[in-house]
Amino acid sequence: MTPLVRELEAAVGAAQVLRDGDLSAWEVDWRKRYRGRALAVVRPASTAEVAAVLRACAEYGASVVPQGGNTGLVGASVPDASGTQIVLSLSRLNRIRAIDGANLTLTAEAGCVLQSVQEAAAKQNLLFPLSLAAEGSCTIGGNLATNAGGTQVLRYGNARDLCLGLEVVTPGGEVWHGLSGLRKDNTGYALRDLYIGSEGTLGVITAATLKLWPRPAAVTTAMASCARLADAVALLDLSRSRLGAALTGFEAMNEFSLALVERHFPQLRRPLAANAAAPWTVLLEQSDSEGEAHARSLFEALLEAALERGLVADAAVAESIAQSRAMWHLRESIPLAQAEEGLNIKHDIALPVSRIADFVAATDAALERAFAGVRLVDFGHLGDGNLHYNVQAPEGVPAADFLRDNEAAVNAIVYGAVLAHGGSISAEHGIGALKRDELARCKQPLALDLMRRIKAALDPDGRMNPGRLL
Ligand code: FAD
Ligand code: ZN
Repeated sequence: MTPLVRELEAAVGAAQVLRDGDLSAWEVDWRKRYRGRALAVVRPASTAEVAAVLRACAEYGASVVPQGGNTGLVGASVPDASGTQIVLSLSRLNRIRAIDGANLTLTAEAGCVLQSVQEAAAKQNLLFPLSLAAEGSCTIGGNLATNAGGTQVLRYGNARDLCLGLEVVTPGGEVWHGLSGLRKDNTGYALRDLYIGSEGTLGVITAATLKLWPRPAAVTTAMASCARLADAVALLDLSRSRLGAALTGFEAMNEFSLALVERHFPQLRRPLAANAAAPWTVLLEQSDSEGEAHARSLFEALLEAALERGLVADAAVAESIAQSRAMWHLRESIPLAQAEEGLNIKHDIALPVSRIADFVAATDAALERAFAGVRLVDFGHLGDGNLHYNVQAPEGVPAADFLRDNEAAVNAIVYGAVLAHGGSISAEHGIGALKRDELARCKQPLALDLMRRIKAALDPDGRMNPGRLL
């Protein structure tokens, strides 16, 4: 046993330093594109234990990969292949420390699963609005470290907008107590915002104070089909002006993404039949302070106006909570259906909403010219200008071959178009290992340099999640 392992065992107990047996749950990422090997998986149960682990790693020069639910999609939560990195799993830091109803805040430890935070808030008749398909396994620490988005950003913002304070352990093992529940606090640099979105490269988040909202009386959904993506954008505009802050979700999906869901999950029913003349489907969500009947009548009036203007071909308003859930289930099954279909080239991109339709038209055409028959799984959070623009091999072409031969060329076309349309190469999943080189290509050199200076100041030995992001 090395001196480092001995110290890790002293910090958290021998049973929580895993070195033997099958460690693939911690060493392989969710998409199974990154497979590493850890020196050890260490599972502290408190902030003090995290600090002790980081002090031990500092003493012996070991690098550290923080890990929450390991649902990240950019290869940043698993160790590299060297067998020298420590995976620091936060999953045992899973207490809700406090709920302050009058202040509308909740303080949770980093390893709390997102769904358990939503449920703790709901028990007090309050709402924690961060919501994404991985919510049953991703953690608050991971959500903040990736600045996760999800399906309610349109109304409530992304993880950064939902966080008021943090507790962080530095690479040297000091604890920064920044768990303020203040909505106003202009006392210098925004340290909190440096750690949010830093993908484990600056320090370890051990707890966070999060914003809550009163629970809406009713949450209902509707679906509409549109002939063109531009019509869906016009529908977004109309929905915003009719529903105001009650519009809490606005998702779009192309016909091929829904066809994939039909193929792999035939038990799921589509409320609107497939229609070649209206290949875009929109899912709208409304949160109403009065009740379901009120929300439904607002939806009906909105969709009637949209039909009159020719923006939608067909529409359905959910008549029960079960129907609303079924609509979301359809949308959330797209990534799973894609995974069933085989590997694909994923792009999580942001564009100004005003340019998104032009982007898709131009990029679809460029990809079809370069790779005849290529299949595009386009879906995402249209209300935020965030598309998951994923490229699947033509029917009959083995996915792995297509990926190996064409990933770089596909990315050059897609990211070139993203930049030309004023967009971002990562809307919500982050950079990690997957997009690190792309980031270096497309970010202003000064911006990269400023980021490197921050990294050098906060992690001078470069031991926090090395090789990721920068
Ligand atoms: P992990 O995967 O464990 O880690 C992610 C990153 O955070 C790594 O860099 C890791 O080092 C770092 N990290 C983790 N915990 C800490 C900590 N305590 N301190 C410091 N660094 C830490 N993302 C969206 O934004 N929107 C979506 O709609 C969305 N949908 C998804 C759907 C599915 C089915 C899946 C599998 C993923 C989806 N994601 C989505 C990806 C998203 O990034 C993650 O689900 C989630 O935010 C990561 O949380 P995690 O606990 O699993 O973090
Ligand atoms: Zn998403």
